[in-house]
Order: sequence, then C-alpha cells, then structure tokens
Amino acid sequence: MKAAFPSWVEVVDAPPAMVIQAIRVGGLAPTKGPRIQAVLRRIEEAFGRFELPESSTPEELFSFLLSLPGVGPKTARIVLLFARGEPRFPIDRHIERVGRRLGLIASPTSLTQAMERLDHDIPASLQLPLHLLLIEHGRRICRPRPRCPECPLVDRCPSSGAFGPP
Ligand code: SF4
Repeated sequence: MKAAFPSWVEVVDAPPAMVIQAIRVGGLAPTKGPRIQAVLRRIEEAFGRFELPESSTPEELFSFLLSLPGVGPKTARIVLLFARGEPRFPIDRHIERVGRRLGLIASPTSLTQAMERLDHDIPASLQLPLHLLLIEHGRRICRPRPRCPECPLVDRCPSSGAFGPP
C-alpha cells in the first residue's frame, strides 16, 4: 500500500476500488477500504491532520475512536495499546477462548467487563507482550480443538482434562 499511496492524502483521494485492490490480501477489502477512507476523513476533520493528537487523554482518544465507522472496543483498545502503550487490554477471539479455558476470564463475564478488569489486573508493561503471546498460543496450541498434551500450561490449566485427544 505504501508504494501505491505515498501519503494519507492520496489514500483519501484515491478511487475506492484502488484502495480495495491495495489491501485485498488482508481480507474483507470491500468493507475495510471505504472505512479506511472514511476514518481518515474524520481524523482530518477533527484534528486538521492525519494523526491522533499527542495531547489527548486516553479517555478522549478512546471515545473518539469508538465514534469512527467500523471501530468497536477491541479495535479502539488495539490502537491505544499498540500506538500509545496505554494499558487497555484488547481481547480477540483467540484470547477469549484461551482466557476462558485458563480461568483468566470468568465464564459469565461479558467481554467488555473482562477487558476492563484485565486493564487493571495485568501490569501495564506486560499487556502488549501478553496480548501477542495469548494470540500465538490460541493459534498454535489452544485451538478450538486444543492440543493439551503439547501445552506448556497443561499442569496449571483448569480445563486441561476437559478435552479428548486432539
Ligand atoms: S492445557 Fe489445553 S485447554 Fe489449557 S491452555 Fe493448554 S491447550 Fe488450552
């Protein structure tokens, strides 16, 4: 995408079909392409440039991000954690599955409640590495059909006996 669009202005001004083509490899391009352009327009309208302001508080940025098309709590938290290092722990489908099996997320808890609790329970410096490691663990070992015999957490996991052979 960088070679086709050297600047954010060019992304905004490009024909939607060109943006869709540029991000096709990432999946859901017909939905994401127009949203990327709409989000960039909103950021430029709000702040006069294609950047989130450094001076905004995490709460202000979180509210703004949630007002953007296609941005929900998980995506807003990803932006805050990855771009700002703010302790806002995002839970995706892999982390939810692994977290519920390990007991990090109590079963009746909603995802919003779980994310807010983990914001406080996980030390800020560990949130990004733990987020990435749990996703990797969910993709490779604790899959929908988990590979418990191969899992380094098998002796500590309350769910390890709940599954048959992988
Ligand atoms: S022991 Fe099994 S259920 Fe528990 S985290 Fe490991 S793979 Fe997942």
